[in-house]
Amino acid sequence: MVLASYSWADDALRWDSLEDEARYPYALCGLQQVYGQRVEVFYTGVGRTQSWLRDPYAYGEASVLLPGQHTELLTAIPAAEGPLHFAGDHTSVKPAWIEGAVESAVRTALEIHTA
Ligand SMILES: Cc1cc2nc3c(=O)[nH]c(=O)nc-3n(C[C@H](O)[C@H](O)[C@H](O)COP(=O)(O)OP(=O)(O)OC[C@H]3O[C@@H](n4cnc5c(N)ncnc54)[C@H](O)[C@@H]3O)c2cc1C
Repeated sequence: MVLASYSWADDALRWDSLEDEARYPYALCGLQQVYGQRVEVFYTGVGRTQSWLRDPYAYGEASVLLPGQHTELLTAIPAAEGPLHFAGDHTSVKPAWIEGAVESAVRTALEIHTA
């Protein structure tokens, strides 16, 4: 079994544009660029693919900030608005990671308890 691609942001756009069944031979092409034509002997055509952008319940994987946006927006995003406090991975310095979500939860709980 091979994890042929784990892509996000712009890198995932080409995969998103392909129908599921077209992604497996496309993945094989990528493996052949690395290992040569001969890897096709191991190719079964069976696979599993998931596009979170095309998933109607997700519409994407995470907020991915562009270069510069982190420093520009990071103080504003987690700032409380009166009694409203904002948690979530996107409010942390580790967006798109569980660790960022947990850290933001701790920050928000402390904000509320010290307010
Ligand atoms: C495909 C994929 C792979 C990932 N892989 C990794 C990984 O390997 N390692 C890693 O660290 N992170 C990974 N992540 C990211 C990780 O899942 C997120 O960073 C984390 O779940 C964010 O937690 P959160 O609490 O900020 O938000 P969420 O987990 O999105 O929680 C928000 C919750 O709010 C609920 N909600 C939304 N709107 C409302 C509403 N109006 N009323 C009530 N509830 C509402 C949602 O249903 C959801 O349960 C992955 C994410 C995806 C999608």
